[in-house]
Amino acid sequence: MHAPEIEFKDKEQVKRFQEKKLGELLDYLLAFSPFYKELFEKNKIQRSDINTLEDLTKVPVSSKYDLYSRNFDFLCVPKNKIVDYVTTSGTLGDPVTFALTDGDLDRLGYNEAISFLCAECSADDIFQLTTTIDRRFMAGLAYFLGARKLGAGLVRVGSGIPELQWDTIQRINPTVLVAVPSFIIKLIEYAEANNIDYKSSSVQKAICIGESVRNPDFSLNTLGQKIQDKWGIKLYSTYASTEMVTAFTECGASQGGHHHPELIIVEFLDDNNVPVKEGEPGEVTITTLGVEGMPLLRFKTGDICTANYDQCECGRTSMRLGPILGRKNQMIKYKGTSLYPPALYDILDTMPMIKNYIVEVFTNEIGTDEILIRIGCVDVLENFEKEIKDHFRAKLRVAPMVRFEDPKLIQSLQFPEISRKAIKFFDKRNPVLS
Ligand SMILES: [Zn+2]
Repeated sequence: MHAPEIEFKDKEQVKRFQEKKLGELLDYLLAFSPFYKELFEKNKIQRSDINTLEDLTKVPVSSKYDLYSRNFDFLCVPKNKIVDYVTTSGTLGDPVTFALTDGDLDRLGYNEAISFLCAECSADDIFQLTTTIDRRFMAGLAYFLGARKLGAGLVRVGSGIPELQWDTIQRINPTVLVAVPSFIIKLIEYAEANNIDYKSSSVQKAICIGESVRNPDFSLNTLGQKIQDKWGIKLYSTYASTEMVTAFTECGASQGGHHHPELIIVEFLDDNNVPVKEGEPGEVTITTLGVEGMPLLRFKTGDICTANYDQCECGRTSMRLGPILGRKNQMIKYKGTSLYPPALYDILDTMPMIKNYIVEVFTNEIGTDEILIRIGCVDVLENFEKEIKDHFRAKLRVAPMVRFEDPKLIQSLQFPEISRKAIKFFDKRNPVLS
């Protein structure tokens, strides 16, 4: 299998290619999507009004709230065409259901196969899946289908259980881990504690999901650097979501996740839903291409990213998506500075004395944002609080409140029973009407 040719075409060719695909999508939505049919009628938009990518701005954006409140109005096929159901966390805590057809599963596998190709993987690789494939989760299934499509091998270990992970590494000799970066740290710690010679293991690289391993300038962040220093395996970031049914995965140049033009149209919008200037951070807004079950048109993901359009060292000309700077609704305005939680995590991750932590944000008496960092720490040394605050001041110019607690308590807050991944950010601010 080879990388699709469209990833190497010039900008104008990609645009024309996407406009053709967009036309097919609009015909499909106006024939089968109750939600989008109504949206076009209500806003008096004709199919013939939308011919170019620029014309897309005539269509109102769709939000997570639309998906939550009108969930099955997004469905374009009869129920007997659905093969797989997954859920994703919604805005108001209740999950949103996504339904995939047989064709959608093929598309999902294709998407992941070309993402693996981007990450310099081939049919000769063996993947070890350290994330869950069930629990109504789409990603694990995508990795399985992608490896199969690529012609590679895959072993489904599932999440957690470092002992089973290492037993599998020694038994099957995988070359690639698909893993959450902080779990790779756990694997290293387990290996060190149990005298496993992890540096001579078969593992050469990791596809890193769920957490960023890079700073906005593409250098490794604290978490990524820690893995690199300890183990030396090559890290490839990937960004994906259930709604997008598409992944943006880094190539060997490590300069952002590559866009696959046949699968998705991406816009970067400001707070007024106007496209930002090229290269400025904006909210990733997507239009899925080729999806049958629940296609989305101008869906706002809530993730703030920057796009890069220069040709990449790998030869691809496709747009590259920088690390997520933050989630739109998670922006904190603190003492005159705008912050996103990842900037706080990156500082906390550098301090070995900190066992674990959560970040709480709430509204104080004067109506502005206040940050409390609850730190799990066994022996709190004198001056440690000052050391942490100095560190914050040096990096971010402001120092949040700090409270030391039992690491076990923090651990239980990070992993409530129904959660699939660690929760580090707790937003307790008064809701803002917008
Ligand atoms: Zn590249």
